[in-house]
Order: sequence, then C-alpha cells, then structure tokens
Amino acid sequence: MTFTDNARLKSEITGYAADTLTPSEAEWFQLVQSLPAHLAKQLSCLIEADKDRLVSVFYDRLLQNPDARAFLSQDVVHDRLQHSMRGWLRRLFVERTLDVEAFVAEQRKIGEVHARIQVPIHVVMQGARLLRNEIIDQLQNKAFDLADFAVLSAYTGNAINIAIEFMSQAFVSNTKTDAQTDEAYRVFALSQDLSLEREIQRAALMEWSQSVLFNLYGSRPDTALPALASSDFGLWLHHKGDMIFQGSPVLDNIRNDLKYIDNTLLPAMSAAARNPALNIAELVETFKNKTGEIKFLLAELFQAAVAMESGRDPLTRTLNRRFLPSILAREVKMASQKGMELSVMMLDIDNFKAINDSYGHSGGDHILQQVAESIFTHCRANDFVFRYGGEEFLVVLIEAGSAAAFETAERLRQHISGQKFTLPDGGTKNITLSAGVSTFNGHPDFSHLIETADQALYKAKQNGRNRTEVAFPLV
Ligand code: GH3
Ligand code: MG
Ligand code: MG
Repeated sequence: MTFTDNARLKSEITGYAADTLTPSEAEWFQLVQSLPAHLAKQLSCLIEADKDRLVSVFYDRLLQNPDARAFLSQDVVHDRLQHSMRGWLRRLFVERTLDVEAFVAEQRKIGEVHARIQVPIHVVMQGARLLRNEIIDQLQNKAFDLADFAVLSAYTGNAINIAIEFMSQAFVSNTKTDAQTDEAYRVFALSQDLSLEREIQRAALMEWSQSVLFNLYGSRPDTALPALASSDFGLWLHHKGDMIFQGSPVLDNIRNDLKYIDNTLLPAMSAAARNPALNIAELVETFKNKTGEIKFLLAELFQAAVAMESGRDPLTRTLNRRFLPSILAREVKMASQKGMELSVMMLDIDNFKAINDSYGHSGGDHILQQVAESIFTHCRANDFVFRYGGEEFLVVLIEAGSAAAFETAERLRQHISGQKFTLPDGGTKNITLSAGVSTFNGHPDFSHLIETADQALYKAKQNGRNRTEVAFPLV
C-alpha cells in the first residue's frame, strides 16, 4: 500500500484530509505506516519494558552537561520531565499515532516549553542523540536478524528526528517572538524618563534603609527587619531593572549586595538588637556602607543606560559603533530584497597623532567634533554616521550606488582639506582625511562591506592620503 492509499484510507476512517499534510507531517505518517506489524509489536514491548530505565539514563547523562544541569536539577523539573518523557516515548514507539495533527501539536508544545524556559537547542539535540543510541543499543542486544534490526533502528532514528524537527520549529518561532518582545520592551523602558526613574529608585532605597533603622531602634526591636528584596526598590530591581539593564555586571554587584544584606546583615542586626552583649554599632556602620554602595552602583547603572539611550558618542554625537551590526544587517537585507543601492564610506583623519602631539588631546578632541559636524552636513539625514574608532568614522549611505558614494566622499574630503579648524586656544589648523568607499554587491554578510571599505581606505593611505579610493572600481 502506498502512502496515498494509506492517507485515503485514513481520511475515510477519520475524515482526516491527507492532502493538507506538510512534507514533514507526511513523513511521520509514512514512517508509522511502513513499520511491519510484527516489528512494531516487538518495538512496543521493548520500549514499554525499558522506558523507565531509558528516562533515567537520559536524565543522568544530561545532568553531566553543565548547560543542561541549570534546567534539570530542580525536583519539580525532575518529576515532570520523567513523567512526560515516558509519555513521549510511548507516543513515538508504542502508540505510534496516525493522528498527525495531535502528534505535531504535542511536539510543538514541548518546543514552546523549551523556548519559554530557554533550554538551549543543543541540549535538546544532545538528549535526542542519547536516547537514540540507547534504544539502538537495546535493539542490538535482542536477537533480531540483520534486516529487522536495520528497519527498527531506522524507525528509531527517524521517529526521534521528526519529533525534534517539530519541536525546533516551535522553539525557533517562539524564541524569535520572545527576542522581539524583549527588545521592544527594552526600547520602551529605555524611552521612559530615566533620570526620573533613577531618582524614584534612589528615594525608594533610602526609604527602605530608613525603615530598617527605624525598626532597629524603634519600640519593637523583636520585629523582623524589612528585607530589601521585598521593598519597592527590591521589586523594581528584580523586574524592571533586570529588563532594562540585563547583562550588566553592575546589576550583578547590586544583586550580590542585596543578598548579603538580606541573608547576613539584617539577621545579624536583628540578633544584636535583642542582645545587648553584641556590638550593634559596628553592624549599623556596615549597613550604612552597603546601602551607600548600592546607591553608588545605582548611579553607575543609570549613567551607562543614559548614554545607551541616546546611542550616541558624547564627543561627536555620532552613533555608537555597537549599533552598527544591527543597522547594517538590516540595510543589507533591505538592499538585497528590494534591489536598493547601498554604500559604506570609511573615513580616517590623516596624521592625527601629530595633531594630538602638537595641540594636546583636548585640541584633538576639538577638531574631532568639527570633523563630525562636517560629515553630518555632507551626508543626508537618513544616512547613519558611526564613530568607528578614535578618529575613524563609518558612514552608511542609504540608497547610494558607487558613483554617488564616491561623489559624497570626495565632496567631504575636499571640504575638509579647505576648512580652517579652530583650536581651543583660538588658533586654526588645516587637516585632511582619507576615505575608502565600498558598495553593496549582493554579498549577504554585511561585514564584507566594512572589510572592503577598510581595504579601500588602506589603499588611500598608501597612495598618499587626502584621497578617496573605491573598493569596487567604477565601471
Ligand atoms: P594616518 O594618516 O595613518 O591615519 O595617521 P594617524 O596619525 O592618524 O594614525 P592613526 O590613525 O593610527 O592614529 C590615530 C590617533 O588618534 C591615535 C590616537 O592618539 C588618536 N586618537 C584616537 N582617539 C582619539 C580621541 O578620542 N581624541 C583624540 N584627541 N585623539 C584620539
Ligand atoms: Mg588617522
Ligand atoms: Mg586611525
């Protein structure tokens, strides 16, 4: 019986529309159908008898992987996972359901759970490999003839692979949505008034520290001191702060201080309040120091975020280089999808070291600012100007082909070489810059554009400076 025959039969029985199956779904259908009944029965028996051991082996082996341990070590995960893994094995090897829709739904649900708890996909793959090898080992131990063994091990491998395929589809689409939501929220959170937020949190921290001291010296010294984690500040830190400043080492330092205060310092202060033999003054001193430290770290945390909020270099107002990958990747994608032109211009001031040497670092900074202004006036409002290095700028020229980019670079270069730059002492100075221009040629990796522009810039320096070179010669 062919797959189509089977599907027709199945649709007659269940009303299931086989022609709506995707290729992967059809593969599952075919796989289950193609397993001869006597082998299917033997496989069922083997898995039923062995499933508890398989689940334990799976679990124990994964625990050896530090990446997996983070997800698996909790008791609740252990119990639920053991249970659902047993069910999953039964579905694949004992029930071998022909209800493709239900089968896919189950796999997708597992994938969604993985995405939500952020299990890395490589851990899932490793688990699948372990199970496959373990089952095939068991098949080998049974006295199957070679042909039957081949059919059963192929079934095992394919069944697991197809299930993982559905899981990863759901995993990927969920992770993508999550990342977009995270990013959207981060941008939203950052667009809030951060200075105001900083003041509110500073006040919340102070309010909490006052209430600790008030409780400590108050009329009811036996009252437990309020934990920082459950204060307004603690809640903010745990939820919103974590989202806005995720990954910041300063945030980790604040968290460590908070843990120390709640777990060590506050209990010690409570104990000292009840026992006059203990030295409370010293503990209060430590408390004030720790609170002061958090206040300082909080200021530091916000300072970095305020700079990130604008995303601009404070000296030149050009964009921070950290945004280059996402902006250029997006522009390259748009250029290739919509057939738009795109160029990149790499600029480096000539002999800038000598300027610093003669006029000091602040003289150099003064000139850098003016160069950036000139760059802005020679580009269009929609172009992106980045500070690429100390005295290097990278400009992403939107909808500009090779000729237009070259022209822009040349106009800028000529303007710079004719301009009188002012110095902090009121004097003036002439400078020049070199430019390397590269144009999108269909290469999907945006770093190719940067590299070729950089090579062109190098050529401009080699050829005597104060000139523009193009990575792909004009035709
Ligand atoms: P070249 O023509 O080959 O580019 O010569 P150069 O002297 O400009 O050489 P290079 O580009 O290697 O050196 C750049 C110098 O710019 C090194 C550093 O002292 C200076 N510089 C980097 N960042 C800053 C900055 O933010 N402010 C100031 N004032 N100087 C900087
Ligand atoms: Mg230079
Ligand atoms: Mg340089």
